[in-house]
Order: sequence, then structure tokens, then C-alpha cells
Amino acid sequence: MSDTVERTFIAIKPDGVQRGLVAKIIAVFEQRGYKLVAIKMVCPSREHLEVHYDDLRGKPFFQGLIEFMKSGPIVAMVWEGLDVVRQGRKLLGATNPLESEPGTIRGNFAIDTGRNVCHGSDSVKSAKREIAHWFNNDELCDYTLELKKSIYE
Ligand code: UDP
Ligand code: MG
Repeated sequence: MSDTVERTFIAIKPDGVQRGLVAKIIAVFEQRGYKLVAIKMVCPSREHLEVHYDDLRGKPFFQGLIEFMKSGPIVAMVWEGLDVVRQGRKLLGATNPLESEPGTIRGNFAIDTGRNVCHGSDSVKSAKREIAHWFNNDELCDYTLELKKSIYE
């Protein structure tokens, strides 16, 4: 069970919050067996969002993306478990919801790329950077998921 400490940053975007998808998106990760180690609702500054999306600076959609992400609260979370970064991306579906498989979060709940309801880290390296950007260490809860023996062999 050594790799179960991998963590990813998942954020429910303003459209996901407005559409009442918070509980549904959390349930996808809970039901898969991942462990929630941090969660908060936040209204981040423009600068905070620009640093979060630093790799996209210069893209034509960048300003619109930042404006949209500033339009309402976001639910920021850290999830932990085996292969959670890659599996989190699979649970989200493709960036363009029209390319997302039915059954994924975006494939079930979204149509437009700019309203794809949820963010997920794209690599373990990005996850580490994003978790440190959104959470202080004392916001990451250290506890044992008692179900673990029922989820991992
Ligand atoms: N985005 C957009 N238009 C595009 C590409 C991306 O509005 O052509 C938005 C979309 O909301 C996406 C976010 O920018 O989720 C970040 O883009 P990225 O390529 O990192 O996609 P993700 O990692 O979220 O799947
Ligand atoms: Mg991305």
C-alpha cells in the first residue's frame, strides 16, 4: 500500500458550484475509494488564479478563463490514494466535454470547454505545486481512512 499517499488537487469551478454539482463531484472521488485530505470554499484573487494557470499565460482563452474563475466561489480539495492524479483526470474526462466519455464528470455534466465544471492536476509534479499554492500544510488533514483495508489489498 506504499503508493497510496499520492495526492492531487481537484477544484470545483464556479460553474460547478452554481449548478449544484459540489456533492456529486465529491461523491465521485469518495465512492471510488479516495481519501479527502483537505477541502475549502474560496474566492481567490486574480493573481492567485494567474499563478495557478501559469502554464497557460499567452493562450487566447487565458484572460477569459481567469475572469470566469473569478466569477464565483470555487471548492478546492486535495484527494489522496493510489494513482490518484491519473485516475482523477480520468474521472474528470477530457478538457473539451464533447470529447469526454459519458460516465465522466465532464461527460455527464458539461458541454463547453470554458464551462467544464472541474479542475484536476495533470501530473504528480503539477499536483505538488497546486496543493502548495492553494493550501497551507496545516490545512491538510493527517488521518487514517478506516475503510482502507476494504479498498486496497
Ligand atoms: N480552456 C478554455 N479553452 C481552451 C482550452 C482550455 O477555455 O481552448 C479552459 C478550460 O476551462 C480548461 C482550462 O482552460 O479546463 C485549463 O486548460 P487545460 O488545458 O489545463 O485543461 P484541463 O487541465 O483543465 O483539462
Ligand atoms: Mg490543466
